[in-house]
This record gives sequence, C-alpha cells and structure tokens, in this order.
Amino acid sequence: ANQARVASLQDNINRPTRVLSYPKKADGKPVYTSEFFAENVFTLQQIAKALPKPAYASFLKQMRGRQALDKGTADAIAHAVRIWAMDRGATHFTHWFQPQTGTTAEKHDAFLSLKSSFSPNGEEVTAIDAFSGSQLLQAEPDASSFPSGGMRTTFEARGYTVWDTTSPMFIQEGPHGTSVLYIPSVFISYNGDALDEKTVLLRSTSAISKSCSELLNLLDPVPVGAQPKVSHVFTTLGTEQEYFLIDRSLYALRPDLKHTGRTLIGNLPPKHQQMDDHYFGRVPSKVMATMSEAELELFRLGVPIKTRHNEVAPQQFECAPIFEEASLAVDHNLLTMDVLAKVAHKNKLKVLFHEKPFKGVNGSGKHCNWSMSTDRGENLLDPTVKPETNYRFLLVLVAVLHAVQQHGGLLRTSIASASNEHRLGACEAPPMIVSVFLGEHLTEVLNSIEESRPIKNFSVPEIQTIKLGGTALDVKVASLPSISRDLTDRNRTSPFAFTGNKFEFRAVGSKQSPAFPVTILNAAVASALQDVTAALREQMGDKPYPSDADKVAVIKKFIASTKAVRFEGDGYSEAWIHEAEKRGLPNIKTSPEAFKQLLNPAHSDMLTKLGIFTKTELQSRHLILQERYAKDIIVEATTLRSLLASQILPAAFEYRGSLAQSVSLLKDIDPEDASPELEALKALTPVVKDLQASIAALDKAIHDIHEVAEDPVQEAKYACAHVLPAMNRARDAADKLEVLTADKFYPIPKYSELLWF
Ligand code: ADP
Ligand code: MG
Repeated sequence: ANQARVASLQDNINRPTRVLSYPKKADGKPVYTSEFFAENVFTLQQIAKALPKPAYASFLKQMRGRQALDKGTADAIAHAVRIWAMDRGATHFTHWFQPQTGTTAEKHDAFLSLKSSFSPNGEEVTAIDAFSGSQLLQAEPDASSFPSGGMRTTFEARGYTVWDTTSPMFIQEGPHGTSVLYIPSVFISYNGDALDEKTVLLRSTSAISKSCSELLNLLDPVPVGAQPKVSHVFTTLGTEQEYFLIDRSLYALRPDLKHTGRTLIGNLPPKHQQMDDHYFGRVPSKVMATMSEAELELFRLGVPIKTRHNEVAPQQFECAPIFEEASLAVDHNLLTMDVLAKVAHKNKLKVLFHEKPFKGVNGSGKHCNWSMSTDRGENLLDPTVKPETNYRFLLVLVAVLHAVQQHGGLLRTSIASASNEHRLGACEAPPMIVSVFLGEHLTEVLNSIEESRPIKNFSVPEIQTIKLGGTALDVKVASLPSISRDLTDRNRTSPFAFTGNKFEFRAVGSKQSPAFPVTILNAAVASALQDVTAALREQMGDKPYPSDADKVAVIKKFIASTKAVRFEGDGYSEAWIHEAEKRGLPNIKTSPEAFKQLLNPAHSDMLTKLGIFTKTELQSRHLILQERYAKDIIVEATTLRSLLASQILPAAFEYRGSLAQSVSLLKDIDPEDASPELEALKALTPVVKDLQASIAALDKAIHDIHEVAEDPVQEAKYACAHVLPAMNRARDAADKLEVLTADKFYPIPKYSELLWF
C-alpha cells in the first residue's frame, strides 16, 4: 500500500477509543435513562409552568390549529424559554427548518442585544439579553439561495420561518460548554407557498385527520346534537435508519466519498457479506462507542431510540426509535442523522447515509413504519383477534390498498433520487413497482370476504402461539416458554408490507428526509378514505348510519378493485416484473420519469383538491427534484473524472513506468529474463487505454449536458441517459485497473480497507 494509506491505517489502529462518561448521581450510581430523557427539551409541562392558566389554555388551542397565538402569550413563552435555555448555557437561538435540500437549515442569532438610553450627557449603550414573542414566532432569513423551483425570483427572495408549535423547542450543545436554542419551524414564501418539507407534511396530517375522523364518526354514530366521538386522527411513524460507519482518516483519502457520499470506483474484497455473519453480529467496540454516545445525546433531546444492531453489509448498522406522531418523528429522524454524524466525527469515524456507498454489498434504506391513531390512542391498523369481523379495521385497510392502487406511481415519486436509484430494484431492496404485502392471514381474511365464505382456520387460538413442547423435541425444549406468533410473516422483498399492526414503507432511501414520502402516503390515504366514506354513504342510502351488511358490501367492493396491487410473492424476481406489467401496475424505472408524476393530473388533482400542494408548489417541486437529480449526477461525474484523471491514471502510468524500466534493465542481461514484466505490461496497456478513452467519453458527456440541455428536466433526462452510462463504463475500466496495478502504487484506500475495522 502507498504511504498515505499505510499512515492512515496505522492511525486507525493506534487510536484509543473515546471514553464517554454516562451521567452519574452524586453518590456515584448511574442516572437512569428515564431520568434524563428529554432534559434538553422545552416540554409542554415547562410551557405550562411558565404561563398563567388562561394563557396556557390559549396556547394549546393554537397548537391544535383552533386560534392564532396572541402577542402576550408569545412574549411570555419567549421569556420563559430564554431563561430556561440560558440557564443551560444557550447564547443563541435559531429557527430550524427543512428546505427542499434533503437536510435541515439554521441561522443563529445571539440573545445579546444593545439598548440605548439618551440623557443630557449623551447616548448610553448597555448590553442586555433579549428574546421577544415576535422573534420566537417568526424570522426572515434571506431565502434567495434555497431551492424554490422558480417560485421566487431573487429580487422577491423573502421567505419566512414560522415556529411549528407542534414540535417542541430544544437545546443542542455548541462549543466551549455553550448551547443553542432550536425552534422547529416551517419555511414559507412571502405569498405563503410552502418552500419546505414540513408545511406540506402538516397539511397532509390535517387532511388525513379530517377524512379519517369523518369515516370513524360515520361508523360509530352518536346521538343527535352530541359531540362526535373522534375529533382528531394522527399518523404515527417509526423510522428504521440504516447507515455505514467507516474510518475517517481513510474516508479523507477518497474524494468520491467526500464529495458524493459513495464510492465511484472499487472492487469488493474476497470476503464481504456472503457469510451472513455481520447481520446481528456483535457490534464492533468503536461503533458501540459511537452509538451509545449518540444515543445519550438523543435521549437528552427526547428522541426515543430503542434498537441498535449490525446490518447485512460489513460496517453497516441500524437504529430505530419508538414510533411517534409523524411530524415529530420526522424531526427526530433528522436529529438522529445529525447527531450520529456529529458523534461519529468526534470518534474519528464517518457516517455514510448514502443509499449505496459500496457497489456489490447491500445498500441502506429507511423503513418508514406507518399507521394511524385516534386521539384516544387506538391504532386503526390493529387487526385485533378477529379481523374478519372488525369492520373498522377492514375499511381502513382497504382504504390503504385503494391509496396504493390509485397512487402507487406517486409513492414511487416520493422515494426517487439519484442515490436511491442505485438501490431500488437491485435485488436487495424493494423494486420500483409499488405493491402491497399483507401476509397469509390477512390475505385469507380478504379472500373469504370476497368469496362470501367462512374464513379458514386462522383465528383459532392455537395458531397464535408456537408451542415448543408437545413434539419429539419435548424433552429438550420443555424449559422454553411458549411464544406468541405474529399475525403476519415477513416479506423483505415488498416495498410496502403490512407488519402486524402497521405498514412498512420499505422503499424509502436512507439519506432522504422521511417527510416527503410520508406526506405523499398521508395524502393518498386521506383521499382513499374519502372514497371509502363516499361509497359507504352511497351504500347506506337514507339510513343514518351503515349496517354491517353495508360495511361488508363496501369492503368487498374495494377488495375487488384493489386486487392488482396485492402481491405476496418474491418482489425481486423477474417473473414479478412481467406479472406486474400484466396487472397494469406502473414500473417507473428512472427518477426523472418518476418526478413527472407530480404533474400527472391523476395525482396532482388529488394533491391540490386536498389542499396539500398548490399547482404552483407542485410545479416548483417538480423542477427542484429534476434539478437536484441532474446536479447530483453532474457532481458525481465531475468527481469521477478528476479522480480518474488525476490519481488513478497517473498511478497506472507510474506502475507502467516501473515495469518498463525493469524490462529494459533485464533485457540487457537476457531477453528471456524480461518476459514476466513484459507480459504484465502488455496486460496493463489495453486497460489503461480503455480507461483513458472512457475518461474522454465522460468528459464529453459532462460537457454536452450543458450544450444539449436547456432546462432542469432535459438536464436530468440527459444525465440519466448519457452521463450515468459514461460513468459506469469508466468505472468498469478503473476497477479492472485496480486489480492489475501494484498495490503500492494505488493511491486511494480500497474496499478491503474501507470495509474492515
Ligand atoms: P423490524 O426491524 O422488525 O421491522 P424494528 O424494531 O427495527 O422492527 O422497527 C420497527 C419500527 O416500527 C419501530 O420504530 C417501531 O416503533 C415502529 N412501530 C411499531 N408500531 C408502530 C405503529 N403503530 N405506527 C408506526 N410505527 C410503529
Ligand atoms: Mg423493519
């Protein structure tokens, strides 16, 4: 290996693990997690403590969208939160928001202010700390550099960040023991258009609340004049976050990882994931140190991280929180990614959230576990013991099926990106065809209803538990308790799977914010719930509420109309692609094509009708997505070109030079003696030529994109059709060269180093 690589490997081995001290009580005993959980969050209880009772009541009303926040209340909260935060070392505050860049944005303001007083002696200036209600409620960062998809021109760049009162404020540590007060915010334009991910997510949440409450209140009628039973439904979200952790000193030697988040060249080492020994294996100590330090910080931030484990690929890991209300869960997922990145850095590691950092081993996803819950905390996707007679469950279930049937193409849009494309449909991640897996039991429930026959043996109590005793194995395992069996089995190959009492949207990319996919899913289901409610009203006619027979009729109707999206088989198989085509399911292969679905009236009408997006917002988002896709690929192509031209090719030249020198020296002794080196040189030459040619072709593709394409849509299309293939060709040549070049000449860390702690 070359010197830089050796030095960084040595550094990696000799580096001591960072020692973290977990919080301790005065007597030296550990503090329990539940005792410091959310200690850095300004919770509702704290607001309640700070405000007079009537002011707190009006704040709660505001939070539930029923009235505007008055200045007095805002001032009181601002004062209380400033004292709370400053007592914990805060010097600054920031509105924290989610522009359409895939990450979060913040601009810090000091609490420090200057106060002038004038007297006959002249002006006297004193320093004070201040934070007003209006500063809490909104700020106006210069929005001109955030993507707006043509919605604003630079001269009308005003954008406003407005406090999202549904997500609590928190503090995060800054340098030197200081900290910053974070105010979760939405980001809107001067005209009130959504410029961010959060605004549309909140709109989709209220759409689902409205449509779902309407259905539930129709199913569960109350006496005339009484309050409806359900006034609010919310969606729940639990995000399983996958990521890679690699050594930072090696990372620093790979320009492709630094600039694009993935390796653009490189061959698999002989041993990678084929032994299945990494999955759920023992977590390496360096990684455990990072995980637990990150968890500690996340607990303090009120993020309920629950699980951690090794994933399939070498150096791939996962963590998942306890599910929460969706918009809070989105904030918490973004915080989790942030904190993991920060803590990894402190531990001299680098976390990779890219969907496919390494070719040939598994990529990373972010499974979005999703359900709906009433304000009384009932999970609407809980099948209960006898789903076949649980009509409320079945109506909600067929609404979700109907949502996928109608808007599967749009769900595909919501997960499309240049990076996720490397993972989708690559036989390790759900395919680009969006279908639903229900499992054996629910499939039988739906089939029996459809065929008007009794359900087969599934709801018999015995099958709910797997008895380990009672067989020939009795003697050996009688000591084990009998365990309960889940209602559904698992199907890794489905992009959208029912898993017990929730759906798991598995096609979501690890790097992307869950906000957009969840917004689209909420929207599609809100619209589907309206269709189900309308069908029910039609079925029941003049009756005040539907009979069980009416419900069954509607359930049957939707079972029949949504059959095409149900698929229980192997989603990775070639056969499924043909089958899906026969069923008329969209198979949208590229991201640029997927983005266009946003402008397809079949989807856009639904989104505008529900008030989740305006037409302008859809047009702008479409352009932003196309533009980001094109830019992602252009950055990759440019990085690859420079890596190949300035490092890989010169390394091959150097090695060729040394071979040529040997050949000429050895020839002088005896021509026969030079033949091994000569052979190596001859094998190398065509590959070097091929690489050189492919760099030129790549160069041309990069150059042409600016010539050929006049707008982001054309750019994205060209990048997909021409730049990507040019990159793949160059990679093939470079990967061949890696094998042929003597290791000591190879300038950048190889997979065998990157994927080995
Ligand atoms: P697995 O890997 O078996 O799918 P995990 O425990 O890694 O399971 O993740 C499951 C995720 O689903 C967790 O975040 C969990 O909180 C979440 N979840 C469970 N029930 C619900 C629900 N009703 N709504 C949303 N998410 C849920
Ligand atoms: Mg899962």
